[in-house]
Amino acid sequence: MISKKMENMVANSSAIRAMFEEGNRLAKIYGAENVYDFSLGNPNVPAPESVKQAIIDLLSEEDPVVLHGYTNSNAGYEDVRQAVAELLNERFGTAFAAKNITMTVGAAGGLNVILKALLNPGDEVIVFAPYFGEYRSYTNNYDGVLVEVSPNTETFQPKLDEFEEKITPKTRAVIVNTPNNPTGVVYSEETIQAMAAVLEKKQAEYGTDIYLISDEPYRELAYDGVEVPYLTKYYANTIVGYSYSKSLSLPGERIGYLVIPDEAADSENLIAAANVATRILGFVNAPTLQQKVVKACLNEKTDISFYNKNRETLYNGLKELGFECIKPEGAFYLFVKSPVADEKAFCAAAKKYNILIVPGTSFGCPGYVRIAYCVAYETIVNSLPKFKELAAEYQL
Ligand code: PLP
Repeated sequence: MISKKMENMVANSSAIRAMFEEGNRLAKIYGAENVYDFSLGNPNVPAPESVKQAIIDLLSEEDPVVLHGYTNSNAGYEDVRQAVAELLNERFGTAFAAKNITMTVGAAGGLNVILKALLNPGDEVIVFAPYFGEYRSYTNNYDGVLVEVSPNTETFQPKLDEFEEKITPKTRAVIVNTPNNPTGVVYSEETIQAMAAVLEKKQAEYGTDIYLISDEPYRELAYDGVEVPYLTKYYANTIVGYSYSKSLSLPGERIGYLVIPDEAADSENLIAAANVATRILGFVNAPTLQQKVVKACLNEKTDISFYNKNRETLYNGLKELGFECIKPEGAFYLFVKSPVADEKAFCAAAKKYNILIVPGTSFGCPGYVRIAYCVAYETIVNSLPKFKELAAEYQL
């Protein structure tokens, strides 16, 4: 018998698993090129050539005992953390040192580490719908309670009035994700300033520390020169979780980092707790080889023009067909209004045309669907006639 907690988690994850299996099943019947699988955020852009070269160089030049060994600190190699800190200071005018950086097993590992470090059972974690559905599981891992702020479907910027109402003495953390999965929205500087003001006010009112966790795997994926504010500059109790999964197309390598600034309340203990959490959650340390790759490729960038071309083509194509959607400013997702209230029925209808998309309910926002456009350009182009048939079915 598995645990009660896992019973629920297994039951709830069946929709995503079913979609994954459905994609494989359809590909076997119709051929992969005739299946338009927009269900996963798995980048289709290869990692930069320099990543491959860095791996080759490291394998041939580094001492294998070090390269494949445990790191001497659970937080990661000092030189790697120092290099990450310096890059952030250069880019964002911050003043981080190596000690403020904890290398993590992707953003997912980082979120689990920081929530493990912060949450007592019953502590509340606020998220803004629509949000990455795994936040619910990660919070549940540490017996926290997820509190949702309902979506503003006009702009998909967070609803700050409702946010303020939902902060209680038990609020321990707030997770924001900008550029956002699933909407592609970037929270504006005004939004961040207003959010910080609400947090300051509520901290003072309750005499608590409320941590703002900025989950930023899509930071580098912002289009048309849009600025993504660096949140530590607006609110002292900010923790940043970064990942190379999308920025360097390395999702399978499981590498990222947390930033715990000195300004954050109880930062020394929090840094120590993140170190221990990395160990006791069973990560032990972020992958050693990938830490060194990150240092060697610090200034590398993914080919954002690839995603931008997909974004323009799919967004314009779907708008022309009569679908409603705001234009994403970042990440690689479109969040499209379902033509019927029951978006799961719409996803089922799309499947008849071999189009696989994810219901908004998975992101706490029913009535919408997520289309991940991190796929081959041909998939976008070839899917449009199928979307046209789908639109016709709904008389758009
Ligand atoms: N956070 C968000 C918003 C994501 O979309 C994802 C992955 O898609 C993650 C975290 C996890 O990313 P990682 O591969 O870095 O663990």
